[in-house]
Amino acid sequence: MYKFDYLIVGSGLFGATFAYKAKQANKKCLVIDKRDHIGGNIYCENRHGINVHKYGAHIFHTSNKKVWDFVNGIVEFNRYTNSPIANYKGQLFNLPFNMNTFYQMWGVTTPAEAIDKINTQRKEMLDKISLSETKEPANLEEQAISLIGVDLYEKLIKGYTEKQWGRKCTELPSFIIKRLPVRFVYDNNYFSDKYQGIPIGGYNKLIEGLLKDVEVITNTDFFENREYWEQIAEKIVFTGKIDEFYNYQFGKLEYRTVYFEEEELDCSNYQGNAVVNYTDKDIPYTRVIEHKHFEMFGEDVDRCKKTIISKEYSIEWNENLEPYYPINDFKNNELHQKYKSLSDKESRVIFGGRLAEYKYYDMAPIIEKVLNMDID
Ligand code: FAD
Ligand code: UDP
Repeated sequence: MYKFDYLIVGSGLFGATFAYKAKQANKKCLVIDKRDHIGGNIYCENRHGINVHKYGAHIFHTSNKKVWDFVNGIVEFNRYTNSPIANYKGQLFNLPFNMNTFYQMWGVTTPAEAIDKINTQRKEMLDKISLSETKEPANLEEQAISLIGVDLYEKLIKGYTEKQWGRKCTELPSFIIKRLPVRFVYDNNYFSDKYQGIPIGGYNKLIEGLLKDVEVITNTDFFENREYWEQIAEKIVFTGKIDEFYNYQFGKLEYRTVYFEEEELDCSNYQGNAVVNYTDKDIPYTRVIEHKHFEMFGEDVDRCKKTIISKEYSIEWNENLEPYYPINDFKNNELHQKYKSLSDKESRVIFGGRLAEYKYYDMAPIIEKVLNMDID
């Protein structure tokens, strides 16, 4: 009766991984995407041999061997290690917060000295807001100060976070900052996961591999012809915005979005690192990405005479912009729950990915989720 087993709305990582698994289960799938390319936010554009991450820097990391083996089965990954530099008014710090950062901030050289500094600053903050050591931090500011002390909070977190989220650190949930490791060893690896890297040849290779032999139509918005698409397949996998799926009947969910100012430069090495964060609130962008450093190392950097950088700006989302980050504060989570109670009752529609689940998702957990699904 139906032409396809699954209509998959969205060719991002969720939709593409689902299509791959469904194909293995002998299901007939059609993928549609409203953009003019596949891959969603991990899409890259190749210029001068450099893969430009069009929707922001993406570094794959996971401790899940099943996920790592799965993606490497599609395309081999390199061993890129993310070690961003933070620039605060010209002063440089290593990230994530580790002994190098503590040395650069306070001149301390041992873990005991660093822990002592942080504990003293945490105690001062707790005394100021009359809190006990046992109470959970109420917001991002309290969480950050209790993790790394007030000096590093003010130089490396406050300005950057308020630029990125457009909200005061006291109004943001503490979990956002818990993503970042704090270590008392000299280790600038941003992630603590066992496996980390970039697909050799770029992320398009991963998406193309996942969607190999699957029918895909781009430049096609599900909502422009909803009735038609709803009767083309037995089931729908929806990876777009959940509030849009339900015609915004309870109201609109909010997002943060980013945009990029891209520059092609006639030099082989502009900033010596893939990622430099600008943590001072007076610099309007949050970070500068130099794309070649994700995949070119050693002599290859100079062999390629050009470089491409992207300055990343963070702004409030509106209807004409791409939604990037769900804002998982109390108000939006409560609204999302209302939509979720509707989606939980659907028998023909599967909701997945960062927009449909309204969740701040990294790439690996998305793949893990699909790998654990029963596709029948
Ligand atoms: P998407 O990639 O957004 O795909 C959804 C697709 O659905 C899109 O192609 C969209 O066009 C399409 N679509 C939506 N609505 C419709 C419609 N109505 N009709 C048709 N098509 C539709 N993760 C990491 O692991 N490491 C990182 O370093 C990292 N860096 C990031 C940096 C930034 C700036 C951002 C924003 C995210 C980052 N992430 C990172 C997270 C990563 O991008 C996501 O986990 C992943 O891309 C989500 O895949 P998805 O399929 O859920 O969503
Ligand atoms: N962050 C910060 N300063 C930095 C880097 C990160 O304050 O130099 C904070 C910021 O609030 C950010 C959060 O840490 O939202 C998580 O950072 P991550 O790099 O994981 O963010 P993403 O990769 O999602 O942009």
